[in-house]
Amino acid sequence: MKDKRLLFAFPHPDDESFGPGGTIAKYAREGADVHYVCATRGEVGTVDPEMLKPYEHLPADQRLGALRGQELRNAADILGLTGLHYLGYRDSGMPGTEPNRDPRAFINADPDRVTGQLVKIFRSVQPQVVVTFDPFGGYGHPDHIFIHQRATEAFHAAGDPARYPEAGAPYQPQKLYWAVFPKSLIKFFVLLLRVTRRDATKFGRNGDIDLKEIAAHDYPSTTHVNIRPYYAIKQEASSCHTSQLSGGPARFGKIQKWFMMTEHFRLVEPNAGGQRLNERDLFQGVTG
Ligand SMILES: [Zn+2]
Repeated sequence: MKDKRLLFAFPHPDDESFGPGGTIAKYAREGADVHYVCATRGEVGTVDPEMLKPYEHLPADQRLGALRGQELRNAADILGLTGLHYLGYRDSGMPGTEPNRDPRAFINADPDRVTGQLVKIFRSVQPQVVVTFDPFGGYGHPDHIFIHQRATEAFHAAGDPARYPEAGAPYQPQKLYWAVFPKSLIKFFVLLLRVTRRDATKFGRNGDIDLKEIAAHDYPSTTHVNIRPYYAIKQEASSCHTSQLSGGPARFGKIQKWFMMTEHFRLVEPNAGGQRLNERDLFQGVTG
């Protein structure tokens, strides 16, 4: 076990690379143990049927998950992840869609059971720092919101010997962060869409992303990680998630690229007063 240990808890293969991929690559290369807890295999979504050909021996509803699991395996190797831990649920899809009702969907899981699974992993890999989504899940995906709730609960339960005694010896992580992004950029983008007469409430590949709603959930960051030296690694890891990239890897202009050289986090534990901080390192103040 390394001296520095960091754990990210998100629900889908790609959340790790498209989100804080640069931060994962940075700490892995600086010699920390970096773990990824992924609640599902991202079984919901449209994909080019050609890509599922190698998985035709599997039942139809497992093929996309198998493909995305392989994509995550490849991304994990590039990022330098120490451990990849699946919770074993199914992608719940966007609100109001049919996969929401699947009893295997992550959002239909027993909350205490999910918390117990997380507590067991926290106690086993002993991360000083835990990162999950904000209470709106970045853009409102029900799985993102659910992992936020469960990881928050597990953060507090892991150090309590009275809770989940069967999940191993108590271990209390020191810091809890939300992965966030500056909403000022989104607000600017909403304005830009309005000028070009496009609907900011029905954005994205499937028209299911409401940029106005996203901009309204503003969680200011406390911690800014410079990922410039790791940006190429993040791009390489992101490009492993081929099934989720329409028309090849995204290309960014110079200004966008400049914004992407920093990844943003909000410290919530310990930060009772919601103080404005200006951290540059997720391990700042971590002891032992
Ligand atoms: Zn996701």
